[in-house]
Amino acid sequence: MTEKNNDSLEKIVSLCKRRGFIYPSSEIYGGLAGAFDFGPLGVELKNNLKNIWWQMFVHDREDMYGLDASILMNSKVWEASGHLAGFADPLVECQKCHSKFRADQIGFPVENMKKGVSGSTVFILPRCPNCNSVDDWNAPTMFNMMFQTTIGAEKDSSATVYLRPETAQGIFTDFKNVLDSFHPKLPFGIAQIGKAFRNEISPRDFVFRVRELEQMEIEYFVREADWVQHFETWRQAVHEYLALIGVAKEKVHELEVSDEERAHYSKRTIDFEFDYPFGRKELYGLAYRTDYDLTHHQEKSNQDLNYYDEETKEHFIPHVIEPSFGVERTVLAVLLSAYREDELGGEKRNYLAFEPRVAPIKVAVFPLLKNKPDLVTKARSVFSLLKKDLAGQIIFDDNGNIGKRYRRQDEIGTPWCVTIDFDTLDNDTVTVRDRDTGEQRRLAISELGTYFRQSL
Ligand code: ATP
Repeated sequence: MTEKNNDSLEKIVSLCKRRGFIYPSSEIYGGLAGAFDFGPLGVELKNNLKNIWWQMFVHDREDMYGLDASILMNSKVWEASGHLAGFADPLVECQKCHSKFRADQIGFPVENMKKGVSGSTVFILPRCPNCNSVDDWNAPTMFNMMFQTTIGAEKDSSATVYLRPETAQGIFTDFKNVLDSFHPKLPFGIAQIGKAFRNEISPRDFVFRVRELEQMEIEYFVREADWVQHFETWRQAVHEYLALIGVAKEKVHELEVSDEERAHYSKRTIDFEFDYPFGRKELYGLAYRTDYDLTHHQEKSNQDLNYYDEETKEHFIPHVIEPSFGVERTVLAVLLSAYREDELGGEKRNYLAFEPRVAPIKVAVFPLLKNKPDLVTKARSVFSLLKKDLAGQIIFDDNGNIGKRYRRQDEIGTPWCVTIDFDTLDNDTVTVRDRDTGEQRRLAISELGTYFRQSL
């Protein structure tokens, strides 16, 4: 177990709010547990992480197909997938203060509950984390985490639909469509990024456990005999993505999920865990889902979901390897990996050492002094020049003195600051300051485009 240090989580939460990365949802009304808004910098950071993922796993490969399935689906999907019956967490309620908790998170012997064993073993029950009473628990019940709503004007059960709790099922229900449109050869994958909803009993730890989340998921279809090899390849691919986005390698650990803990559809699962300030917890999952989903959808829908191999003339249901990445947990792991405190030029500072490809703002352009029109005009022209390549990820800043501007950019993780000073007016050179070292180098304006392109 890693040491818990919520101190650094508080610092990240406060930085995110102050600098416009992440805000609590509907804050002016007191917020809503488990819901967050991504502010102007947060949305850029999140989009960079999603775009890198899409580039790496879809655009750079020839065996992947993208998809954007709907969030609302026919309820039979969730019957077939097993979510209606089994997508549940154990819920306990303290009879004294009526607080509700996810039983396994407060130390209940949850394995026995999942298996429906009332048990002759004597367990020491936890105290209520809210009122500290003991022995006041009701019998644990399984609480289904899918959000329900009704569709159209009818209010009977035929109108009940669910907000998808995972993006994966849209991939399975469109499997046949992709086969018919593209005739892909095995192995191939379908990738999707989208929102999912889980009515978590206790949302907590900032964006780690939220009720409205975003997932980046791949279903990679293989022959059964090849699953071990593909599982291994995807395991490496997860680490490659983490390295690319700057997640601290030493904080990532693999956990082989035991038979008892694995989801109903999986024959092997590895959790990629991260050392968060609140402990070592899941970041991503990699599961061998067998042919469970396609087989069940074939049975329930009465549609033929077989793959036809033209060479061998075989019809069969492919098996599936699923790497599943949560976007919010990615954002959190990237922020926690990048956060630094140090002293620069005799002053304390904190900064985000983002990988440049991930940073929401790549370059900030400053005129040395705000009240010198020549400097401001020149700085504006440099800004316009660089904007051609860096639209949306470059800002112009003339607020406060230069030291304050540097601190502000450090805190939001901008890798480079370009300052236009009096020498610029003479010789068309500018200073480029490096975020991590604070070092400045002088470059010709004409070199800047190439310099940033190469550095990125
Ligand atoms: P946990 O055990 O932490 O509840 P899980 O095993 O239920 O997670 P999966 O069903 O494997 O999670 O979901 C795949 C991924 O989606 C997770 O690895 C995580 O990155 C993300 N995820 C799942 N639930 C949440 C949530 N409530 N908030 C944020 N991200 C989530």
